[in-house]
Amino acid sequence: MRNTWNGYNTSFVTCEKAENNDMSASDDSKPNDATGPASNFIRHIIEQDLQSGKHNGRVQTRFPPEPNGFLHIGHAKSICLNFGVADSYGGQCNLRFDDTNPEKESQEFVNAISDDIRWLGFQWSGDIRYTSSYFDALHDFAVQLIEKGKAYVCSLSPEQAREYRGTLTSPGIDSPYRERSVEENLGLFAQMRAGDFPDGTHSLRAKIDMASPNINMRDPVLYRIRHVEHHQTGSKWPIYPMYDYAHCISDAMECVTHSLCTLEFEDHRPLYDWILQTLDIKSLTAASDNSCAADDYVLPRQIEFARLNINYTVMSKRKLKELVTENYVNGWDDPRMPTLSGLRRRGFTPESIRNFCERAGVARSSGTVDVGMLEHSIREDLDSNAPRAMCVLRPLKVTLSNYPENETQTLVLPCHPKNEEMGTREIAFAKTLYIDANDFEEIPPPKYKRLSPGVEVRLRGGYVIRCDEVIKNAEGEVVELLCSYDPETLGVNPVGRKVKGVIHWVPAESALDVEVRIYDRLFNKENPDDKSIADYKECLNPDSLLVLTGCKAEPSLKTAAAEASFQFEREGYFCVDRHDSTAEKIVFNRTVTLRDSWAKISG
Ligand code: ATP
Ligand code: MG
Repeated sequence: MRNTWNGYNTSFVTCEKAENNDMSASDDSKPNDATGPASNFIRHIIEQDLQSGKHNGRVQTRFPPEPNGFLHIGHAKSICLNFGVADSYGGQCNLRFDDTNPEKESQEFVNAISDDIRWLGFQWSGDIRYTSSYFDALHDFAVQLIEKGKAYVCSLSPEQAREYRGTLTSPGIDSPYRERSVEENLGLFAQMRAGDFPDGTHSLRAKIDMASPNINMRDPVLYRIRHVEHHQTGSKWPIYPMYDYAHCISDAMECVTHSLCTLEFEDHRPLYDWILQTLDIKSLTAASDNSCAADDYVLPRQIEFARLNINYTVMSKRKLKELVTENYVNGWDDPRMPTLSGLRRRGFTPESIRNFCERAGVARSSGTVDVGMLEHSIREDLDSNAPRAMCVLRPLKVTLSNYPENETQTLVLPCHPKNEEMGTREIAFAKTLYIDANDFEEIPPPKYKRLSPGVEVRLRGGYVIRCDEVIKNAEGEVVELLCSYDPETLGVNPVGRKVKGVIHWVPAESALDVEVRIYDRLFNKENPDDKSIADYKECLNPDSLLVLTGCKAEPSLKTAAAEASFQFEREGYFCVDRHDSTAEKIVFNRTVTLRDSWAKISG
């Protein structure tokens, strides 16, 4: 598919049409130019609902993370969508931790997730909510379902239950416990709740249809027994609700109007609707902590959209967790991780991530976005906003033979070539300086524009110099260059001489010693999840981190604050590491290189 929209070519998205696409609204998502929210099928639905007055003009969304890991860039898409539509239509978005699985969840993740959402620039409505704070209500609704003859306690073991469930091609078989009386079910459920039974011995199941072609409707489990502590409710509950049961009720209790989730929940939608339609709506809204009017209350509508996938990246929380716990990376916020905290530490700004999500668009067809588009988003931001500075990554000493001893001259350089408001910075020019070893070749290849013996280059913001002599150590390695500078060339080109290149430099005496961490993609295969690859970890890029110590930065960087971003001229964009930098030693992370492959392909 080639499609041009506002100058962005969308050939970077490989599209597969989602199956079972029964949406009435058209799939009209287009990558956006990031100047404002693009229309998409979800916005169409909301606009139609607003026009028809379906929810009394209310728009209430929620972002429902499970606190079992850190947020990643895929979650950012869901956050931008949920908070974004609420914002556009004068609505509200709740943050609700879907915490029904206590074994895998923790307060550490609750804190990290809330921090990341705030950092991304969104504020949820009211307090943080927890599904666990609805456990009493959820329990009472379960009792209501039992009383209506719509739920029963099943005593099949989990293995037996799996056998009875049937397959995609064969129907399930009714559980022998399906016809238990309401009284017996109420009694057993009360005992489950009281903690009388060990894990796995009983479950509460919805009584729907074991022959349904949709496996989710074959008497799904609503409650299971788990004698585990919960990070919010402690040891109060020995039974925990299943996600499908808790999610729709929590949505209704919070008066959610549009429950936006990813495509894998499409087949769960009939269950979402069944539970809410089977329960007494008035009792639902009465249990609500919100003020949607009971009389004309309309149930929330679940709408599915495609997950965000990015090439050279894995997005499964299980895999990200494995990379952390097995030390393939240095924690959830390792700058190579696609987590929001990793991207933040890498130097991505909230704006760049929001722009990226906007550009990626919202559709019902799943596709893979080029990681180059993510890199483009930060480059675009930093090109306008990051001050320029010079840092020499592989220092090579240069002595200017004809420059007076002990004399320094203060050069004033602009912080940004196109934005005067960003001010200027000072660099002391003196007899010795450093250039990058990569900017010198003793035997230059054809068309070489940097320094070599007998050749002139301009020092950025400074003078033209010529290399006169190369000094080597006993191993034959170049350790110093003796050059001469032309005092007539500060800010002016030498008449009649062609100076081939401009290179960056720092003054030797006042330079700061810094550490620079050069990050590359974490995976070296486009699709680490490809079925032909036995283990995604086989595709880990062994060169994803290169630590350069002894780099030399210009003195103006001494006061750079944590997370401050710079363009190191000719090298790329870098930020001050927010954890490892100290007053004694600044650590810079490379955010991205200067070369924008995505803009070139798509521009
Ligand atoms: P898991 O279910 O394995 O824990 P998850 O990624 O679904 O992983 P949740 O915490 O349940 O994690 O996700 C919170 C919300 O973010 C859900 O609504 C989910 O659909 C959405 N989400 C998760 N991954 C993506 C993605 N790659 N693209 C868009 N939305 C996503
Ligand atoms: Mg999930």
